[in-house]
Amino acid sequence: MLVLNDEVTRELLAHAECEYPNECCGVLLGKQISNKRFAEQSLRLENKSARDKSAYFALDPLVIHKIELVAFAHNLMIVGFYHSHPNCAAVLSKTDERYMLYEHSYPIVSANEGADGLYFKIASFEKIIGTNICREEYLITESEKYYEEHVVYFGDSAHFRRA
Ligand SMILES: [Zn+2]
Repeated sequence: MLVLNDEVTRELLAHAECEYPNECCGVLLGKQISNKRFAEQSLRLENKSARDKSAYFALDPLVIHKIELVAFAHNLMIVGFYHSHPNCAAVLSKTDERYMLYEHSYPIVSANEGADGLYFKIASFEKIIGTNICREEYLITESEKYYEEHVVYFGDSAHFRRA
């Protein structure tokens, strides 16, 4: 289960909007307590894909390694990796599944153009230990109130629309 606080949720949406129509990507830093992963901070990373960045992303493993060392020094760990799906649903691609690590959260922010701007949805995924099965995990966003006040809100708790 992934818990995103207000700040991290807003940052993921902002990053997806900033890189649109390309995929954005980054890491989530925080703590894991029993089956809950609390993302306390997010870090934007450069999309290093040599392919079409509107459909692919790649992370630099050396950068990830350095971030992990700094995170450990601050009593944090990498709890997940996020990326966006411009003009696509918030579901895993076959490529996404292939590179997933166990015990990490993989929120995907979909950004789709509507009549009055971008529409966002966040869904998160995890890989089940001992299998290669990936499933959508339960996502809690603490931002529901914020988005109710600041943007038009519709559907379930992880759908947002810009006002
Ligand atoms: Zn993807």
